[in-house]
Amino acid sequence: MLFTTSWDDGYVLDLAIASLLEKYDCKGTFYICPEEQHNRDMLKPEQIKDLNSRHEVGAHSMTHPKLTKVSLDEAKWEIESSKKWIEEITGEECKSFCYPFGLHNDEVKGFVRDAGFENARTVENIKFSSSDPLAMPTSLQITPFPWRKKWTLWWHPLDHFGPARALYGDIRKLGISIKSCTSWLSLAKAIFTYAKKTDQPYFHLWGHSHEVEKYKMWGQLESFLEFVKDEGVDGVTNGELRIGASENWR
Ligand SMILES: [Zn+2]
Repeated sequence: MLFTTSWDDGYVLDLAIASLLEKYDCKGTFYICPEEQHNRDMLKPEQIKDLNSRHEVGAHSMTHPKLTKVSLDEAKWEIESSKKWIEEITGEECKSFCYPFGLHNDEVKGFVRDAGFENARTVENIKFSSSDPLAMPTSLQITPFPWRKKWTLWWHPLDHFGPARALYGDIRKLGISIKSCTSWLSLAKAIFTYAKKTDQPYFHLWGHSHEVEKYKMWGQLESFLEFVKDEGVDGVTNGELRIGASENWR
């Protein structure tokens, strides 16, 4: 099994994520969009270039729209321009794309393929393999669990257990007990252990550095990376998973 991580949007806080990954011999793919989000400082071109030399930098559109809701022309422009924007900064080919909000359909996927990307990530959780390089699912997001402190786009203000309920059906199918669901860290370790024991192709952790900061999850993230290192699993970027390569298909 391989261990990969990805980090969305391009916040300056991604530099702290990158350093933490390096401390535990892990790799990340940073999906960067030029649009400022959540009033956070975003990475500058020199920082993006540096990050690309240590990990992988992927594209994440130009303005972070719902690509399935904008016109086909706009979706095509967002995808193609973001690849060029990243390549101009890094001076290297940009092979990986991440759909804003995970939203994609056949037309959007077609634009991603025609632009020359080799793989594209969604936001689907509790998956450990991918049969489609242009709809690569993830294993787990780092986000407050089993409850969320503040209202966000996805959950009703009073529905603090929304994240737990949404995931629990899938977690139960893996045979993971409710006792492992008391914190994000215990859940992450239990799911990782399941994936390794059952010899899955990969474990893919993803998140937003600004949420790790906002919800004070740096300690849990570091403990998890330390756990992964102790398990002796190799860290790779999303691109290095080579989902499209036939020997990795299951
Ligand atoms: Zn995003």
